[in-house]
Amino acid sequence: MTESSNVQLRCELCQIEINETADQGDEVVFSRGATGSRSKLWARVCQYLKTDEQKAACINQDATQRGSEKPGDRYEEIAPVEVGSTQASN
Ligand SMILES: [Zn+2]
Repeated sequence: MTESSNVQLRCELCQIEINETADQGDEVVFSRGATGSRSKLWARVCQYLKTDEQKAACINQDATQRGSEKPGDRYEEIAPVEVGSTQASN
C-alpha cells in the first residue's frame, strides 16, 4: 500500500511541492509566497540546477509537463544599475 491517489510531489532541491490535483497553473507550492505553475518554478529555480545529479532529483525537469516559460514567471528583478553601456537595449 504505497500508492496514494493524492500524491504531493516534493522537490527537495527546489524546496517546493507540486500538488497534482490542483488546477493547472496553480499547482506548485513554493516555500514562501503564492502558488504558481511549473513553468514558473522552472524559470525561478529548476533551470539553475547544474549537475546531472541535481537534475535527476528534480521533479520539474520535464519540458512537456511544465510547458514553456511565460512572461512573469521569473522574479521581477530590479534592473541592474545601468552604468555605462554594457547592456544593449532590446
Ligand atoms: Zn526542482
